[in-house]
Amino acid sequence: MGLIKKFPVYAEKIPGGGIATTTLEKVLHYSQACSLWYLLFGTACCAIELMCTGASRYDFDRLGMIFRATPRQSDLILCAGTITKKMGPRLRRLYDQMAEPRYVIAMGGCTINGGPFYYDSYAVEKGIDHIVPVDVYIPGCPPRPESLLEGCLTLQEKIKRQKLLDWQEK
Ligand code: SF4
Repeated sequence: MGLIKKFPVYAEKIPGGGIATTTLEKVLHYSQACSLWYLLFGTACCAIELMCTGASRYDFDRLGMIFRATPRQSDLILCAGTITKKMGPRLRRLYDQMAEPRYVIAMGGCTINGGPFYYDSYAVEKGIDHIVPVDVYIPGCPPRPESLLEGCLTLQEKIKRQKLLDWQEK
């Protein structure tokens, strides 16, 4: 009773005086999934579709996806475009600079397996999963913004289902 007097606004906001129960684990993962700040790592044409997804028509922000220009503030690397052999170590360094838990989305054929450069290229990495662990693959050349949105929702679901400290096993 003392508490209700102290916080009358909160008490009135619960319709019919109901009680919601959950676990700390679920709250943590729900918050994490719905606020994925991503490091822009667009290196080629797939990045155009990524930029398009961030614009007003597809409105990436409504999923809690906010782009950052530094790995220190990012939860996710959104890798979109061809990764050359020279770029590989830079990608790994940026990944290492991110705080745990951290996630990676591979967007487009080039990031998944080299795409059109799979054959006859000495300079292109044949998949970024040789460099960093990938959580979600989005195939296409390039994938449409709808595919990217679907990939991000898949990652959100994956995060919501994970167990506390699952990321430590990566
Ligand atoms: S997958 Fe296709 S569209 Fe995407 S970076 Fe490679 S060549 Fe360009």
